[in-house]
Amino acid sequence: MSVTPRVPLATAPGRFGGTILVRGGRLIDPARGIDAIADVVIRDGRVVEGTPDQLDGARVLDARGLIVAPGFVDLHAHLREPGYEYRETVATGTAAAVAGGFTTVCAMPNTEPATDSPAVVEYVLQAARRDGSARVYVIGAITRGRKGKALADMIELANAGVVAFSDDGDCVTDPSLMRHALAYSVATGRPVVQHAEEKALTTGAQMHEGMVSARLGLPGWPRQAEETIVARDCELTALTGAHLHVAHVSAAGTLDFIRRARAKGTRVTAEVTPHHLTLTDDLVGGHWWSATASLPPYDTRTKVNPPLREPDDRDAMVAGLRDGAIDCIATDHAPHGTTDKHVEYAAAASGISNLETALGSVLSIVHAGALSLVEVIAALTCRPAGIFGLEAGTLAPGAPGDVVIFDPDREWCVDPAQFASKGRNTPLAGHVLRGQVVATIVGGEVLHDRS
Ligand SMILES: [Zn+2]
Repeated sequence: MSVTPRVPLATAPGRFGGTILVRGGRLIDPARGIDAIADVVIRDGRVVEGTPDQLDGARVLDARGLIVAPGFVDLHAHLREPGYEYRETVATGTAAAVAGGFTTVCAMPNTEPATDSPAVVEYVLQAARRDGSARVYVIGAITRGRKGKALADMIELANAGVVAFSDDGDCVTDPSLMRHALAYSVATGRPVVQHAEEKALTTGAQMHEGMVSARLGLPGWPRQAEETIVARDCELTALTGAHLHVAHVSAAGTLDFIRRARAKGTRVTAEVTPHHLTLTDDLVGGHWWSATASLPPYDTRTKVNPPLREPDDRDAMVAGLRDGAIDCIATDHAPHGTTDKHVEYAAAASGISNLETALGSVLSIVHAGALSLVEVIAALTCRPAGIFGLEAGTLAPGAPGDVVIFDPDREWCVDPAQFASKGRNTPLAGHVLRGQVVATIVGGEVLHDRS
């Protein structure tokens, strides 16, 4: 699996110009098929070949007994700036990223104003250069103001540096508009990222439509609202020759449409979130994580869009990741303020603050034996990087010196008060996760160190 970047490398904070040696870890670099005990040496921000004899003055990180991998790449994060700085900023969102092992994040455009013009793109990129820890790429809006009425100036946005287009948070439901968005995207060489939700089927919806929603008396969000949009978009993608990337797949049936489209040669890629790989809708009815940590029924921290689904869907997501129907894991990190969540269920905002728990969550699948560590790391590194054409996701000589070092067995209790993110909204509060980031390096600089 090779990564062919087509997007210029985003700035790293890079105040460290020297040499760093990550010594003796188990290096897993799926892009090169490497799983072996090996050193990683970074000089002037990039990986160098082998271990030089002369390492005078090098900083040494002892990674013995730990996993060393390319820094994780998140195609889907809400950094909230500009406009919702009380929820998150580029500074706090990228601090959360590196705390979670992510060295590259792609910022969704549902800001205020929306990222639908070169000026807003430049605003976010400037904030990233000034305040960012991880590398930040910007996703531009598909439609003006994300209102789903008229296309944004996609060519201008591409020239301003966006890596993809999305109205995420909202679906482009108008099929004619979606067709034109896909057609224009071909000229930019960037994918269109769809938040697949047929709104006519989800009006008033609060959670997945099923037995649990019936029992709790909450209006449901049926799987078909996702599946029908993905089916339609696959056809429109075939018609236009575009690249469709399906955001946060949640319903088992969606995978059938993706597989079918691919079999016909249509370029469709897909991502899944840590929560759709690990959690289910019964959480909305209340759950005990431990003797001291629980979620009461109707806890708004379980509210997310698309909603947590049923065990069969969750198992299909894991199987999809294993067989390639789903390409990668993306966090859909969606931080919210307390006023967004400390309200009744129907009034609460959707979303989970995910960057800092993503690794521990997905490693539960590895510990359960349903996915290998190599598969999970590929889904967090070279596979997402390849979808957007980012220079990331491998530690080949010459690659950016972006590294995560983690202990797959270290247990820790999720305490949102300790998050670097402003968003404390996670249903995992009080839950013990197994697997924690020990250190994160961006461009040769250690930006997170819990060793
Ligand atoms: Zn979304």
